[in-house]
Amino acid sequence: MKLTGFTGISMPTDTSERWVIEGKALEDNLKELGYDVIHSNAKDVVEDQIAQIQSMVDEGVEFLVIAAIDNKSLGQVLAGAKDKGVTVIAYDRLILETPDVDYYASFNNYQVGVLQATHIVERLGLRDNAGPFNVELFSGDLGDNNSQYFFMGGLDTLESFIYDGTVQIPSGQTEQDPTSTAGWSGDVAMERMDGLIKDFYSDDVKLHAVLSPYDGISRGIVSALAANDYEPGSSDFPVVTGQDAEAASVKAIKDGTGQTETVFKDTRLLASTVTGMVKALVEGDQPEVNDLGTYDNGFKFVPSLLLDPVDVTAENYVEVIVESEYLTEEQIDAGE
Ligand code: BGC
Repeated sequence: MKLTGFTGISMPTDTSERWVIEGKALEDNLKELGYDVIHSNAKDVVEDQIAQIQSMVDEGVEFLVIAAIDNKSLGQVLAGAKDKGVTVIAYDRLILETPDVDYYASFNNYQVGVLQATHIVERLGLRDNAGPFNVELFSGDLGDNNSQYFFMGGLDTLESFIYDGTVQIPSGQTEQDPTSTAGWSGDVAMERMDGLIKDFYSDDVKLHAVLSPYDGISRGIVSALAANDYEPGSSDFPVVTGQDAEAASVKAIKDGTGQTETVFKDTRLLASTVTGMVKALVEGDQPEVNDLGTYDNGFKFVPSLLLDPVDVTAENYVEVIVESEYLTEEQIDAGE
C-alpha cells in the first residue's frame, strides 16, 4: 500500500519553550509536504500521552514522532502501533524497553554535559590547579533517558578534578538520583538548591559553581542563590550552566545577571531532520542516520541521527543565537 505521510506528533510538555516550537515546526514542515498531521502535547501527563498516541493509531497514522514524558511507559501502546505497521521515530528522547521504535533523532547528549562541565572547568580555572572550589550537581528528570547522558558527560569531565580535590562537593551528592529534578522543574530545583545552601554552606563555605542541565532548572537555581545572599551579577556569584538557549536565560547570560552558559541545540534542524526521515520513508528510501551503536534501548541499538550541540556564553551568543536567527536581540531583551 502506498504511504501518504500521515503522521502523529506527540510532544511531552508545554512548560519548556522548545517542545511547543518544535511541535509546530514539525507540523508545518510535514503539512508543507502535503502530509496529514495530528499534533498533540501531553502537558506532562504520562497517561494523556499514551491516550493521545492510541487515538492517533486509531485514526490510522503511518508514522509516529514521539518525545516521551516517561521513556518506559510507551511499550504497550507502541506494540499496538507496530501491529498496524506504524513506523515510530523517537524524537530527541529515546523510548526504552520496547522493540517497537524504529529510529531516533536527537543531539549528541553526552557532549551536552561535556560542554556544560567544560564551562565550569574554564571559568574556575581548574586546569591551573586553583581551588579548591565548591561545586554542586543537578541532573534532569529520571524518566528522561537524556538525563543520564547529560549527567555522565558532565561528571566524566569533572571527575579528575574531583579526585585530586580541586573540586569539592560539600553535599556529597554525586549520583543521578539525589541530584535529579522531577519534571525538569525550576521550582523543584530552586527548593533543592535552597536546601543545599542551608545545609552545607555558610559564611566560610561558599559555593563556586553549579552544573545545571537545563535553563529552566538554572533559573530556579539562580533564584535560590539570590534568596541566600549570593548577588546575581557580582563577581563571586557562582558559575551556573544550562541548556536550550531559552530567551530568559540568554538574557541573563548577555546581561551578566545570573546563569553564565547555555547549550544551544538548533531545534529547527532537528525538526527538519525528522521531516526528512518521514519523507525518505514515504518515498521508499532509507532515512539518513549517523550512529548505530550508542543508543541501546534495552532491546536493540536504535539507528540514530545525532546533531551537534553548541556552547553559548556572553562572548558568542550574538554569533550563535542572533546571527543564526534563532532569537532576535529584542526577544532576548524581553526574555521571552
Ligand atoms: C531535552 C533537553 C531539555 C529537557 C527538558 C530533554 O529531553 O533533550 O533539551 O532541556 O528535556 O525539556
